[in-house]
Amino acid sequence: MGGLAAASVAAAAGIRTLIVEKNPVAGGYLSSFKRGGYLFDSTIDCIAGAGEGGLIYKLLELTGVRDKIEFVSIEPVRLTIFPDLQVPVDGSAAAYEDRLKGLFPHETVGIDALFKLMERTFMALMLTMELSSLTGGGFASGAASGMLRLQNISYGDFLRDYVHDGRLIAVLSDRCPFIGLPPSKVSALAMITLIMSYFHFGAYRPKGGTQRLADVLVDGIKNKGGTVITGAAAKRILLNGTKAVGVLLENGAEYRSKYVISGCDYYQTFHGLIGGEYGASAESVIETVGVSTSFFIVYAGITRLVSPAASSIGFFPSYDIDKTFAGTLVPATDSITGITIATVEDPGRAPNGGHTVVVHEMADGEKFAIDRQTVAETALRKAGRILSTGIEKNPRIVETAVPSTLTRYTGNRAGAAFGWRQTPGYREKLSPHGIDNLFMAGHWDDMGGGVLAAAYSGLRAANRILQREGLPID
Ligand SMILES: Cc1cc2nc3c(=O)[nH]c(=O)nc-3n(C[C@H](O)[C@H](O)[C@H](O)COP(=O)(O)OP(=O)(O)OC[C@H]3O[C@@H](n4cnc5c(N)ncnc54)[C@H](O)[C@@H]3O)c2cc1C
Repeated sequence: MGGLAAASVAAAAGIRTLIVEKNPVAGGYLSSFKRGGYLFDSTIDCIAGAGEGGLIYKLLELTGVRDKIEFVSIEPVRLTIFPDLQVPVDGSAAAYEDRLKGLFPHETVGIDALFKLMERTFMALMLTMELSSLTGGGFASGAASGMLRLQNISYGDFLRDYVHDGRLIAVLSDRCPFIGLPPSKVSALAMITLIMSYFHFGAYRPKGGTQRLADVLVDGIKNKGGTVITGAAAKRILLNGTKAVGVLLENGAEYRSKYVISGCDYYQTFHGLIGGEYGASAESVIETVGVSTSFFIVYAGITRLVSPAASSIGFFPSYDIDKTFAGTLVPATDSITGITIATVEDPGRAPNGGHTVVVHEMADGEKFAIDRQTVAETALRKAGRILSTGIEKNPRIVETAVPSTLTRYTGNRAGAAFGWRQTPGYREKLSPHGIDNLFMAGHWDDMGGGVLAAAYSGLRAANRILQREGLPID
């Protein structure tokens, strides 16, 4: 998404743009695949920013392909399930806030104050992201002091300033698995961004699979005069002193360019594609900041399923989310689980009224060494229990992905799902790389993880180039 967003903006501004992508198709984590008539999204549950006014929508408009893709809106955004409580996350913040007040009336005052602050923070954050994209400035340099404070404290500490009921704190932490860190370890700002982005920009899935988004953006980039070469891995980023001057591909082809944007993994960019002193300092950044959690994923095609209550489900075995997280990086009977049933809103993805059930289990990408079949069976049995239907008894198609599958496909180190480990203060530890005319685009930049943040990072990378070329930015 980072590379595609950057190329969309650059090509639309009339800059000669070339994308080189190692896979047969562009998209990285946006990939979808088909098995036995069932269409699965490889990784993503839902995307923010695809509705009118959102950045993804604008990129599609900019490249003239907005009408080539349809998005289905997800409502509720998520159904959060605890053993004795189910809480749908409404699409509107006001409706969700009312729902929480109804469930936890003794916390009404705190919930009010919490949502007010999250709203204010999100508005300030969007301004910072827009400003940073337009001016090309670093994220932290444009951030207001209140926002910086939230960047530097944990989400758990932030919540406890407003609410006290442990069950409510757990409910409000239901999207922590999206970032892969428990409330005590994840930056408050990262969580506020994630939660509020869906309220503001909606939660969507491209009809026909996430790969559609990548495919139509590729069409749009080509429409604007860009060139996209697939099945061609970059081997080196060419430098002249401290200036990036082009790319050498694995197949020997060499492209000289005035600017280079890397949408690849951070370590691969600085260690693999550049090397030398840059490689050494990349190692130390990785060591200091750390990479995000990975996932073990099971893809099942189901012939029948008693109407699922939602297409996006999060299951928590207990209200002590921190404790559950501690043991959860090995998928187990009682680990935290995410389930996506995209066929609820997009039935065309499965034949004969069937469903696609994708089970996401957080996994430690550095240490994962588990028998796939056993874990897949455990995960499916658990999903069957959560959905109150024995789906494990009649799955037609079962595929699995482990962290190394994610690395193999995208190059993301240790199957990192969201780039950096978004702990309090992580942004301050990301130092400028010092190479002229080289920009990062994607979740290894400082905009955060997820599809929308990767798109913002790509927008900023392209705008930095437009600025240097004296071209208008809008
Ligand atoms: C299981 C899972 C669930 C997720 N769920 C969500 C979700 O619901 N919502 C959300 O917003 N985000 C979600 N994310 C996170 C989101 O997918 C990512 O943060 C985002 O897509 C990253 O985009 P990117 O452009 O930075 O990188 P990537 O998608 O990793 O793209 C990098 C691209 O670079 C290419 N590449 C790498 N090396 C080379 C090379 N040497 N030469 C040429 N090309 C190369 C790769 O093939 C790939 O196409 C999820 C991630 C995972 C793994």
